[in-house]
Amino acid sequence: MRGGLSGPRVLLRRLREVMAEPISAQERLDKIVVTIAANMVAEVCSLYVLRADGVLELFATEGLNREAVHKASLRIGQGLVGLIAAEAAVLNLADAQEHPAFSYIPGTDEEAYHSFLGVPILRSGRTLGVLVVQNRVRKTYSEEEEEALQTTGMIIAEIIASGEVLGLAAAQQTVLDLNRPMHVPGVVLSDGVGLGHVVLHEPRVVVTNFIAEDPEQEVKRLTAAIANLRLSIDDMIDSGEVAHHGEHRDVLEAYRMFAYDRGWTRRMEEAIVRSGLSAEAAVERVQSDTRARMQRQTDPYLLERLHDFDDLTYRLLRELMGKEKSSELPDNAIVVARSMGAAELLDYDRSKLRGLVLEEGTTTSHVAIVARALSIPAVGQLANVVSLAENGDSIIIDGESGYVHLRPPADVEQAYVTKVRFRARRQERYRQLRFKAPVTLDGVRIALNTNAGLLFDLPHFDESGADGIGLFRTELQFMIAPTFPKLGQQAELYSKILDGATGRPVTFRTLDIGGDKVLPYLTRSVQEENPAMGWRAIRIGLDRTVILRTQVRALLKAAGGRELRVMFPMISTVDEFIKAKELVKGEQRFLEKHGHALPSSLKLGAMIEVPALLFELDELLSVVDFVSVGTNDLFQFMLAVDRGNAKVAQRFDPLAPSFLRALRTIARKSAEYGKPATLCGELGGTPLTAMALMAVGFRSMSMAATSVGPVKDMIRSVNLGELEALLAPALNRPDGPPIRKLLQDFAESRDIPLN
Ligand code: PEP
Ligand code: MG
Repeated sequence: MRGGLSGPRVLLRRLREVMAEPISAQERLDKIVVTIAANMVAEVCSLYVLRADGVLELFATEGLNREAVHKASLRIGQGLVGLIAAEAAVLNLADAQEHPAFSYIPGTDEEAYHSFLGVPILRSGRTLGVLVVQNRVRKTYSEEEEEALQTTGMIIAEIIASGEVLGLAAAQQTVLDLNRPMHVPGVVLSDGVGLGHVVLHEPRVVVTNFIAEDPEQEVKRLTAAIANLRLSIDDMIDSGEVAHHGEHRDVLEAYRMFAYDRGWTRRMEEAIVRSGLSAEAAVERVQSDTRARMQRQTDPYLLERLHDFDDLTYRLLRELMGKEKSSELPDNAIVVARSMGAAELLDYDRSKLRGLVLEEGTTTSHVAIVARALSIPAVGQLANVVSLAENGDSIIIDGESGYVHLRPPADVEQAYVTKVRFRARRQERYRQLRFKAPVTLDGVRIALNTNAGLLFDLPHFDESGADGIGLFRTELQFMIAPTFPKLGQQAELYSKILDGATGRPVTFRTLDIGGDKVLPYLTRSVQEENPAMGWRAIRIGLDRTVILRTQVRALLKAAGGRELRVMFPMISTVDEFIKAKELVKGEQRFLEKHGHALPSSLKLGAMIEVPALLFELDELLSVVDFVSVGTNDLFQFMLAVDRGNAKVAQRFDPLAPSFLRALRTIARKSAEYGKPATLCGELGGTPLTAMALMAVGFRSMSMAATSVGPVKDMIRSVNLGELEALLAPALNRPDGPPIRKLLQDFAESRDIPLN
C-alpha cells in the first residue's frame, strides 16, 4: 500500500476534503470511489447501497463499467457482495472467481479482476451497503488495507444515514432510509395503543467526529475513558447496587471481562494509530467488527454476551462523549429494547411509560406478563427495531394488531388518535359491565378472577369487577426488591392485598423464582443449561425450606382471622405437594403455639404445570383443596416449546386437540372429585381462547385485569350448550379443521364479541 501505515490517514484526509466540497451527492460518491481506488492502488472500487426492497444497487464505481451504475444490482445473499451484506463480514479473496458464491454481475465487465476485498458498510451493527476493491493480479489484501476500507465504510455509512443519497436509486426504488416512516409487524404481548416517543432502553451514542486531529491525544482520551469505565464497573459490582439497577451479576461480570480484555483495548488503539480515527470512531469500528463476528455465532450464550458487549461499548462511548444515561423518563415514553427482564420494566416510571417494544419477547414471557399487569401496551418480535429507531422519534405502538409505526406520517397519527378514542369508548362499555355477572346465555355462571402480583394491581382488580384474585404472583415483590424481603415486609404486602380484596378470595402462589425470573441477590452456584426445567419454584422452596417457611408464616400471619388460599407452583409429583402441605401445617402449629390468630379457613392447592401430574390426577385430587392450571408452563412442557424463545413459542397452537384434551381431562377429573379447578395461564385471557376453555369444562379462570371486560362480554353473548356441541366432535378429530377457525366462525355467526 502506498505510504505504508500513513496510507489510511492520507485516505481519511482526502475523504474529508471530498466531504466538504459543495458538489452533488452522486459526484461525491464518484469522487469517493476514485479516491479510495487511487489510495489503495486498486483498479476497481465500487459502492453498493442497500435499497428498501433488500436489493444492493451499484451506486458508484471506479474501474467497472460506469454504465452499470444504478442498473446493476444483487439481492442480499446473492454473489459475493450479497454474501458480505448477509453476513456483515469482510471477504478478502486472492481469486474471487473461484469462490463458490461468486456470480458475475452482468454489465459491469468485472471478469478481468481476480483479487477482491469487500467490506460491509455498517452503522450501529446494521448493514447499509457494501464497499469493494478489486485488482487484476491474484493477491491477498493486507490487514491494513482491510482496515482502511472498513474505516472508509464508516464514513460512507454516515453519508447514507444522512439521507443525502436517498434520491439516487434506480427509478421507482428508494434507499433504505433511516428517517422514513416504517410500519413493522410484530407479535402482541400486551393489549393497548400508545402514542409517544422512542426511548431506547440502551441509548445509542451517535459518533459524528471520525477523524483524529492528533492520534496521540486520541489514544490518551481512549485510555482515560477505559480506566473510568473499569472503575465504574468495579464500583457497581462492589457496592452491591447491582440489584437496584435490575442488572444481573452475571451481566456485570461479563462487562468486567470485556472491559479488562487487552485484545479489545489493543484493537481500538490500533484503529486510532493505524487508521487515524478519533477515539469514538475507533470504539465504534471495533464494535462493528466484533458484532459482525459474534453475530455469526449460534450459541445463545455468546449471543447474549453480544448484548452485553454492545452495552459496554455504549458506556464507553458515553464516557468519551460525556453523555450520561438519563434516568429521567420523558412524558409519553415508549421504550424500545432488544430484550428486557420483568424487573427492568418495573424500574421505569409507570406514570410516563406508554408502551414497550421489543426485538425479542414472547406472550408468556414474564416481561410480557408484567406489561399486562401494568396495562402497558407491548409488542415483541420486531427484528432489528432497535437499529431502526432513534431516541426521540415519534412512534405508535398498536398492541391490538401487533404493528409498530415508527415516525408515522400525519394521517396514520390521526387514525390512531381516532382509534384511541374508540378504544376509550369500548373501555367504557367494559366498565359498565363491571357490575354485571359473567353468565352465559344459557345461564351458566363463570368465575372470572384476575392475575396480580403487586400492590398497584389492586385498583385494576377493583375496576375490572372480577370475582377475586386467582393468581397472586408473590415473586414480583422479590424481583423488584434490592434484597430479600423480610418476613414483616412480606406479611405487610399480603395483608394489604387481602384488605384491598375486601372479602373476595385471593389465591397466593408461593415463590416461583428460577427459570426466567431471577433474583439478583439469590446467587446460584452453577449456571443452569435449562433453567425452566431447573432449580425453580417449589423445588427451591423444598430445598431451602427457610425461604418457603418464612413466606408461609408471612401468609398465615397476614390472613389471621380471614380466609387464606395458597398454591404451589411447578408441582411435579404428588409427593412434593404433600411435603409442602406438611410444611404449612408445621407453621400453622408454630403460630398457634405462640398465640397468633390463624386464618379462618385455609385452602391449599397445586398448580398443574408439569405434564406428569396428568397421570397422577386421582392421587393429586385426593390431597388438594383445589387445582389451578398454569397453561403457560403446561403448554411449554407438553409441546416441548420454550415459552420465552421467540423462534418456537408461536409454533404450535394451544387450541390444538392434544392440549385441549389434556385440559378437558383435568376439568372432568376435578369435577369428579368435587375439587374446584381453575386456570390462570395466559390462555384464559382472550375471549376466543376462553371460549375453548369453557367448552372443555372450565368454569373458573384467572387472567390479566384488562382481559376481564372482553372475556365477560363474550361470556354474556355465548350459549355454552351450543359451544360444547361444536367443540366436542372437533376434539375427537385431530385432523379436522383448526379449532381456532371453528371458534372464530362460530363467534362471527352469532355476533359474539371477540375483542
Ligand atoms: C403458568 O405457567 O401458566 C403460570 C400462570 O405461571 P407463570 O406464568 O408465572 O409461570
Ligand atoms: Mg408457571
